[in-house]
Amino acid sequence: MFKAMRLRDKMTLWYTTLAVIAVAAFSCALYFMTSYVLQEMLEREARLSLQQLSAQVEFENGMLTFENEVPLSTGSMYYIMEQDGSELASYGKDITLFDRVPMEPGKYREVKSDDDDWLLLDSAPMPVEHSVVRVRVAISCALKTRVLSTLLMVFGIGIPLIMLIALAGGFLIAKHSLHPIRQIIHSAGIISGGDLSERIPNSPVKDELGELTDTLNQMLANVETSFAREKRFTSDASHELRTPVTVMRAYTESMLAEKETSNEQRVSLQTMLTECDHMQQIINQLLTITRGQEGRYPYFMEAINLKAICCGVAETHADALAEKSISLHLDVPADLILEADQSLMTELFLNLVENAIKFGKPHGKINVSSSSDASQVKISVRDNGIGIPTGALPHIFERFYRADTARDRSGTGLGLSIVQWIVEAHHGIIHVESEPDQGTAFSIVFPAKQTKDG
Ligand code: ADP
Repeated sequence: MFKAMRLRDKMTLWYTTLAVIAVAAFSCALYFMTSYVLQEMLEREARLSLQQLSAQVEFENGMLTFENEVPLSTGSMYYIMEQDGSELASYGKDITLFDRVPMEPGKYREVKSDDDDWLLLDSAPMPVEHSVVRVRVAISCALKTRVLSTLLMVFGIGIPLIMLIALAGGFLIAKHSLHPIRQIIHSAGIISGGDLSERIPNSPVKDELGELTDTLNQMLANVETSFAREKRFTSDASHELRTPVTVMRAYTESMLAEKETSNEQRVSLQTMLTECDHMQQIINQLLTITRGQEGRYPYFMEAINLKAICCGVAETHADALAEKSISLHLDVPADLILEADQSLMTELFLNLVENAIKFGKPHGKINVSSSSDASQVKISVRDNGIGIPTGALPHIFERFYRADTARDRSGTGLGLSIVQWIVEAHHGIIHVESEPDQGTAFSIVFPAKQTKDG
C-alpha cells in the first residue's frame, strides 16, 4: 500500500512519524529527568531534616529533651524515640504511618497514606550523653506527584497536537515542494499529446527543481526546433520536387504523342507516366500533411452540407465503383450541416471511399452513414472488403504505412495520415474497426458546431 501512495502523502507520513518520534523521545527524557531531580530534592530534604532534628535532642537534668526550632510544614512529619521505644517527640498529620512501617535505618522508602505518598527515612541509633535516640522523618511527595502528573497531562494534549500540526505542516510543505514536479508532469502530458510548443512554467526560485525546469524547457526548445526543421525539410523537398516531376511528365507525354515512337518505347513511356503520377500524388500529399502540421495550410471554416459532399465524392469515384461493381449507399440526412472546410472535408471522404473501393471485394457494398445530436456529429464509412490484419491496425494512420503492399501497389500510405490530420484540424476523433475478410469501418466524431437547414 505504501508503494502505491503518492509521493506527497509518503513525505507527509515520513515527516509526521519522525516529528512524533522526536517529540515522544524528548518527552520521555524530560519526564524521567524531572522525576530524578525531584526525587533527589526529596531525599536531600529528608536527610537534612533528620540531621536538624537529631541536633535538637539534648540531655538535661538526667533526661532527654527536644525543642524544635525549625519551622514546621504540613509537608513533613517526624517521630523521635527514646532507647526503650517510647515517644520523645512527634509531629505530623498522620504519625500512625510510622507504626505501620518497620524501622530500616538509612534506607529511603516510599509509603502510601490515605491521601498522600511519603518518603520515609530512619536514622541509626544515636547516642545523646547517657542515652540513645532514634529519629524518623517522612517528607510528602505531593509536589513530585503533582509536577509529574502535570507533565503527563501536557504530553497527553501536546503530543497529539504536535502530531496534527506536523501532519498539516508536512502536507503543506510536501505539496508546496512537489508543486513544480506536478507542473512538469502536466506539461509532459501536453507535450506527449503532440503539442511541442508547451513549456513548463519557470520557477522564480533557482533551486534544483528550478534548474530542472530550465533544463527541460531548453531541451524542449531544441526538440521543437529539430522537429520544425525536419517538417520544413520535407515540405521544402516536396516543393522542390514538384517542378522536375511536372517537366518529366510533360516530356513523357510529348514523346508518347510523337508518331515515330515505337510500341516498345510506348510501353516504357507509359510506365514512366504512371510513376510520374504516383510521384506527383506523393508530393502533393506530403505537402498537404507538412503544411497542415505546420499550420500553413489555408482552410476556411463554413457551414457545409454533408450530403452534397458525399454525392460529389460518389460521382468522382463512379468509374472505380462501376469497375468493381461495388454499390455505394448514402445514409446521410439531406439537411445535415457541418461547420468545416469544404475542400478538406471532400478530401477526407475521397480518401476513405477510395480505400473502401480499393480494398473492397467485387460486387461489394460501401455504406456512408451519419447521425447527429446536440453535442456531436457521427459519420461512418463502412465496407465489406478484405479488412485490415489485426497487427496492422495500430499503424494504419502512420505516414507511408501500407498493410499489404503485395496486394496493393497503387497506394502511397499517406491517405489516412491526411484523413487523421483533417479530423484533428476539425477537433474530431477517428476510430477504426476491422475484421480480416469481413470489412472495415471508419467512425469519425466531430463536435456539433453544426445546425440543421431551414
Ligand atoms: P494507401 O495509399 O495505401 O491507401 P492509406 O494511408 O490510405 O494509404 O491507408 C494505409 C493502409 O491502410 C492501406 O495501405 C491499407 O493496407 C489499409 N487500409 C486503409 N483503408 C482500408 C480499408 N477500407 N480496407 C482495408 N484496408 C484498408
